Amino acid sequence: MSDDTSGSTGRFGLPQAPGGLCLLQDLLNTAGMAVAPVPDLLDDETTARSWIDASLRTWGEQTGQTPPRIAVSSRDLPALRALRGHVRDWLTGEAEDRTPHPLTAGISFRHGRLAYEPQGNGAVAVASLVHLEALLASHTGTFTRLKTCMNPACGVAFYDMSRNSTRVWHDMKTCGNVMNLRASRARRRGTAAP
Ligand SMILES: [Zn+2]
Repeated sequence: MSDDTSGSTGRFGLPQAPGGLCLLQDLLNTAGMAVAPVPDLLDDETTARSWIDASLRTWGEQTGQTPPRIAVSSRDLPALRALRGHVRDWLTGEAEDRTPHPLTAGISFRHGRLAYEPQGNGAVAVASLVHLEALLASHTGTFTRLKTCMNPACGVAFYDMSRNSTRVWHDMKTCGNVMNLRASRARRRGTAAP
């Protein structure tokens, strides 16, 4: 697993999810935080471009494929943010998403193995690769280990490597402690935890 500190996941000091699933984790981790000086990388064309370049580089390293070149412009930003919302909903299971999302990808057989790459450009190409990776990960059993931190003020995406897949915080020392402390204070007051 790559541990690139320049990418969206790297800025939280977290390791990348395995294989092509790193793209979904990276997409989720473009989100900013209201309570910390963490900007939304999809609010601005320049940061969105460097995000997709870095993320596709990691994707290429982890899948052993040549990273596609996907150019994104400011016109793609709303669609990319919407895509991020869809992926978050899949992980949290909070909203049904019955809309069939079409994808355009090319599958080829090279050097003795099947390779795949998104077709087109911009948000459409990103969405195609994201859906393809989500499908692959859901079939290999890694998808359910990609999670978002249960601290509502955080929401950072992490890959749960715990044996029973029971991890809920992206970092036990920060988010875990804060939330557990809040819950135990609420219990002492005789009220349910919020
Ligand atoms: Zn957290």
